[in-house]
Amino acid sequence: MENTKKKKKMSLTTVILLALVLGAVTGALLYSFASGSAGVQKYVVNGVFYVLGQGFIRLMQMLVIPLVFCSLVCGTAQIGGTKSFGRIGGGIIGLYLLTTTLALTLALFFSRLTKPGVGLNLSAIQMSTEKLQTVDRSSIPDTLLNIIPKNVFESMANGDMLPIIVFALIVGVIIGKLGDKVQTVSNFFSQFNDIMMEMTMMVMKVAPIGVFCLIAKTFATVGARAMAPLLKYLLTVLLVLVIQVLVVYMTILWTGARVSPFRFLKKFFPVMLFAFSTDSSNATIPLNIETMEKDIGVSRDVASFTIPLGATINMDGTAIMQGVAVVFISQAYGIPLRPIDYVTVILTAVIASIGTAGIPTVGLVMLTMVLSSVGLPIEGISLIMGVDRIVDMCRTAVNITGDAVCTTVVAKHNGQFDKSIFLSDTRREEPNGSHPDNAETDIVDTMAEEFEETDKKA
Ligand code: ASP
Repeated sequence: MENTKKKKKMSLTTVILLALVLGAVTGALLYSFASGSAGVQKYVVNGVFYVLGQGFIRLMQMLVIPLVFCSLVCGTAQIGGTKSFGRIGGGIIGLYLLTTTLALTLALFFSRLTKPGVGLNLSAIQMSTEKLQTVDRSSIPDTLLNIIPKNVFESMANGDMLPIIVFALIVGVIIGKLGDKVQTVSNFFSQFNDIMMEMTMMVMKVAPIGVFCLIAKTFATVGARAMAPLLKYLLTVLLVLVIQVLVVYMTILWTGARVSPFRFLKKFFPVMLFAFSTDSSNATIPLNIETMEKDIGVSRDVASFTIPLGATINMDGTAIMQGVAVVFISQAYGIPLRPIDYVTVILTAVIASIGTAGIPTVGLVMLTMVLSSVGLPIEGISLIMGVDRIVDMCRTAVNITGDAVCTTVVAKHNGQFDKSIFLSDTRREEPNGSHPDNAETDIVDTMAEEFEETDKKA
């Protein structure tokens, strides 16, 4: 039985990984041999790949607002009335801020060493400033004020996560406080939450197709050669992202939760892969909560509260990109940064990370805020735009890993972590941290079963 379960889980990871590799190879081949063919570009790259890839992203986006709202209300209502709420809330926000500050410090330190922008021939890179016209250059006070929703329905319609989170937290705390008096409303949110999780399972069944099309389109459009002048920038960002995961997160995990970092990474890898393919922390929320509960052993109540919060305010990968980009642009334009500028970059980028929505490319948009805080030219962003898709995929995987690591530590310190689940090779089957006998199926197993059935039919 155990072996079968393990095999099933392995097959899901393999299928997504396979879709990823096949997508990259297909895209690279199309770029090399068919970039001149208008038909291939129109019907395959911008037709089938675009529609299926974006269709998948839209399906995930469709889930996000109702799911985040309900899961935050339920999570907060469960722990809101308890003494640990302040500890969990304070602990998670403190850890989120700490990891983002560390990420930025590392980014600035390493990019000073590798000097990614020194000697760059600006004229060798195609400048495209048009796309930046649409950039929203929110000031720091406005970013802070926007946390309070003027109209929560407007925020929901616009997908503004921070105000939605604030409102959901308040509703959750009040439900927790009023208890039985508002049982009907509480049941409504909890049952609606179950419906959204079920919907997530259905959407996840098409994940490999979505992943294949998204990656194939990226490689067919950007191609590997376009990245050559920016290789140093790209490698510096990747180096710091890897350090953040392997050194910073693993140290925090080991010292803060006393769990094996390698086991954690092994269990969490499918979530990273998913974030990598979708470019979106928000789209990864359902799978992240599910994995935290069933594979890592964090209680559902804590994960439903900290993961959506982290997907919105904790963006360590994005902060790393912004730190390296600032140094890169300052070197490329020959504008030196003073020590005080580094401090300003850290402060602004931490705020930018809080204000960055967990959807593709927003980190690049928020970079305008960081650049203007130290007087660097905003057009500099056009230098790195060409490779941002690849960087975005990697930083999103780091963004959601940071949320999961901090969540594990906070859960451990508040008695909300079940180590036996973490150590087990099978998934926890029962919902909501309780242990009823009726085991329910989960996203990964359901998908794996589907694939095995398809395999058998084939
Ligand atoms: N794509 C990133 C995320 O969803 C945000 C960004 O850096 O653009 O976490």
